[in-house]
Amino acid sequence: MVKHKDALMNKQSTSSSNPEIYDIIVVGAGMVGSAIACALAIDKRGEHLRIAVVEASDKPATYNSEAYDPRVVALTQASRKLLHSLHAWDTIVLQRACPYTDMHVWDAEGTGSIHFDCLEVQQNQLGYIVENSLIASTLAQRMQNLQQIDLLCSARVSSFRKDGDSNPSLILEDGRELQASMIIAADGANSKLRELVNFRTREWDYGHNAIVTTVKTEQVHQHTAWQRFMETGPLAFLPLEDELMDYETGCHHSSIVWSCKPELADELMALDDEAFAKRLGEAFEHKLGNIEEVAKRFSFPLRQRHAVDYVKPGIALVGDAAHTIHPLAGQGVNLGFLDVTALRDEILRACERRIPLNDESILRRYQRNRKINNLGVMAAMEGFKRLFGTRNIGVRWARNEGMRKVDSVNTLKNIIVKQAMGL
Ligand SMILES: Cc1cc2nc3c(=O)[nH]c(=O)nc-3n(C[C@H](O)[C@H](O)[C@H](O)COP(=O)(O)OP(=O)(O)OC[C@H]3O[C@@H](n4cnc5c(N)ncnc54)[C@H](O)[C@@H]3O)c2cc1C
Repeated sequence: MVKHKDALMNKQSTSSSNPEIYDIIVVGAGMVGSAIACALAIDKRGEHLRIAVVEASDKPATYNSEAYDPRVVALTQASRKLLHSLHAWDTIVLQRACPYTDMHVWDAEGTGSIHFDCLEVQQNQLGYIVENSLIASTLAQRMQNLQQIDLLCSARVSSFRKDGDSNPSLILEDGRELQASMIIAADGANSKLRELVNFRTREWDYGHNAIVTTVKTEQVHQHTAWQRFMETGPLAFLPLEDELMDYETGCHHSSIVWSCKPELADELMALDDEAFAKRLGEAFEHKLGNIEEVAKRFSFPLRQRHAVDYVKPGIALVGDAAHTIHPLAGQGVNLGFLDVTALRDEILRACERRIPLNDESILRRYQRNRKINNLGVMAAMEGFKRLFGTRNIGVRWARNEGMRKVDSVNTLKNIIVKQAMGL
């Protein structure tokens, strides 16, 4: 394969009658799109593949370690394994990743609570909290070092074309046309490609906004992920590694996700930092003492969305383009990374068996593997949201009883925690 990487990145337009030919085009260089591109290029079986990654932003993702990114994810062991296989994990850990050893979940309306401890499942940690921009920028660096990948920034898709049995192609806003045997849409929750190809979705508002920010607490976070379920929605404190961690003073920073009804979110967003810190401390029952500092806050509406199909001839949806889910169990990108692993395995298996990449069985197998699993997790999250959002006294009693039971039966607790860890 002949490479003209620099020439390609700088090229502004190509006649649409003369498409650039690739084996695979990935749209979206977020965490999921970058991961699938790297996962294919890094494997021996995929080393002949020519991959284009089309990204709307004007430059590859960057990371600023001087401040915390307000968007973080709780990565499962399965996600960590994937990032490790992409040679990205060591770079991430060297920069900033906070292992959490315990998880404490409790009901604001009663005495029910569950405590998960990594030692109970013979692990050194339950997972890691990592900033989104650190993951995306590390994968962007990997992509730039992988010969087979052309990362095309400032590139927006304007239309999708597929005539009969021909390979699909994309027309970019600047007029360039790219053609490939397979297109992977990883362009996030509001996927333009999903819309252009008329994928149907089932979606509804959760009736929640999520407020995210970074806070400094009076007491150390104990490398614990905390979640308090309130009738108005869950509040999570996710531990962050302090910049200059002092073993005597310990770590005091956490990323918070406060999901609540939009009216309450608007009210909380309108408060000044001091008043917000006071409300947050109260909502969190001062588990870590007073909230001493609050960074800039952001509020996102939460919407559940699930594509009815993940694949059509020549194209597959992955990550948030296929499914978006309530952040209460921190599973969004973890499901996206499971999509990556499943699609990677199908594509590489096809390469090994010399099956052409436009063979429809590849994508059908991917869909069969992932859709049922994602549906199950999404249904569970919806169930949790409803269970904790009810005013019904009987349900509240049963909920607290249930939490106490789960907490006291180790085998049951271990099954739940292993599932959540992606083990
Ligand atoms: C408050 C909150 C907390 C969360 N916490 C967790 C957690 O703890 N654990 C967890 O697993 N998940 C969590 N999630 C979910 C997680 O953040 C998402 O699942 C994840 O970011 C999705 O990654 P993605 O790569 O699929 O999409 P995105 O991150 O949205 O990336 C899409 C990429 O596509 C590009 N793009 C968009 N449109 C175009 C176009 N037309 N052409 C070219 N490029 C385009 C974008 O610029 C972007 O780079 C949380 C979400 C929220 C809102």
